[in-house]
Amino acid sequence: MRRSAFFLPTLKETPSEAQIASHRLMLRAGMIRQSAAGIYSWLPLGWKVLRKIEQIVREEQDAAGAQELLMPTIQSADIWRESGRFDAYGKEMLRFKDRHDREMLYGPTNEELITQLFRDNVRSYRDLPKILYHIQWKFRDEVRPRFGVMRGREFLMKDSYSFDLDFEGAKMSYEAMFTAYLKTFKRMGLTAIPMQADSGAIGGNLTHEFHVLAETGESGVFYDIAYDDLAAKGEIDLAALNNLYAATDEKHVPGGPNVPPPERLREARGIEVGHIFYFGTKYSKAMNAQVQGKNGEPVFVEMGSYGIGVSRLVGAIIEAYHDDRGIKWPESVAPFKVGLVNLKTGDATCDATCDDLYAKLSAAGVEVLYDDRDERAGVKFADMDLIGLPWQLVAGPKGLAQGFVELKNRASGEKVELSVESALSKLIG
Ligand code: ATP
Ligand code: MG
Repeated sequence: MRRSAFFLPTLKETPSEAQIASHRLMLRAGMIRQSAAGIYSWLPLGWKVLRKIEQIVREEQDAAGAQELLMPTIQSADIWRESGRFDAYGKEMLRFKDRHDREMLYGPTNEELITQLFRDNVRSYRDLPKILYHIQWKFRDEVRPRFGVMRGREFLMKDSYSFDLDFEGAKMSYEAMFTAYLKTFKRMGLTAIPMQADSGAIGGNLTHEFHVLAETGESGVFYDIAYDDLAAKGEIDLAALNNLYAATDEKHVPGGPNVPPPERLREARGIEVGHIFYFGTKYSKAMNAQVQGKNGEPVFVEMGSYGIGVSRLVGAIIEAYHDDRGIKWPESVAPFKVGLVNLKTGDATCDATCDDLYAKLSAAGVEVLYDDRDERAGVKFADMDLIGLPWQLVAGPKGLAQGFVELKNRASGEKVELSVESALSKLIG
């Protein structure tokens, strides 16, 4: 993509409404614009990142055996009456009527709809287990939308739902999702600590929230400092969890299972990027979702649901990866891998070299944003640092006279001078 043609309205000034780094940077880097409180347009740069994140989530869900489908954003109130949640859900649910005076709502979540789909289409235990998911916009009329996409009113969520014949099966589905979540967040460069969440009576301890630690996180979390070592080694897994303590809730702290001695208990702040839980037959009973069991008997299916805040993750990743000049994208979610900077647009050698680099990188499938604008070098550098592409490839008249371009790693700040050929092979290889 040529920067001269790209719709990328970057801002020099810090917008006054933004309180945390990720919100400020998403506005300044031209990723989002607010349309109403907690409702955003995703501009091309932001949209590219959102799709990369979504794709990682999708690949790990598929790898765990979940199947993607797509349910609508608008739902009928009828099924929510069946589950009893139409009245229970409260003001977070956006309700409205269609022209025939039928009550509708913009889905805040999809347990009812998926249970209805399951009930109407699955008859036998032979069709189990099933994990179904979609990646779809949700609306929750949050009291206090804030921090940009972190707590929006309209936001993108991946929600999966598991259906099993019995508790043993449900537990296996839960564990498959648990593992998939750890892999998903790791691929985005995040350490998300699974925290025991408050489940009420149903399902005992089969509920976890996944939190990325950040000072600006909205949730207070408590955990065993041994996690820090495991996280540094990238070794948090189910086995580690059984021995270590982490919870989102102070009331789990005194006397809970595996609570470490006070000197090992750390209090921190976290951003909740995912939440998984087992809820048994809560919806299958309320909505009569039964299958025929092994001996012909009717069985209410055992269910679980598994959410990931896809749009919130964009903010969470920026909270984890930025400095005072801008974003530092991990390569797996970067909107482009390379920012190509032409230091002197209009200079024949610079233009020819950059055009050639752009063509060759693009042909090799490397995503490049080519700053071909007639702007001062300082402006181009500041913009590149702000939008945070992992690699900056800089070509100017002085270097080119000696046959060199400069390659800068945005995360480490390290710069090397290379021949055009070695720069190409480094970025393509
Ligand atoms: P929170 O406690 O942050 O309100 P929740 O418990 O309501 O979250 P779930 O219903 O479990 O969230 O939704 C699954 C995931 O969707 C959450 O883990 C979070 O990452 C994301 N999410 C929830 N609400 C919002 C929101 N208002 N804006 C952006 N993402 C959200
Ligand atoms: Mg909520």
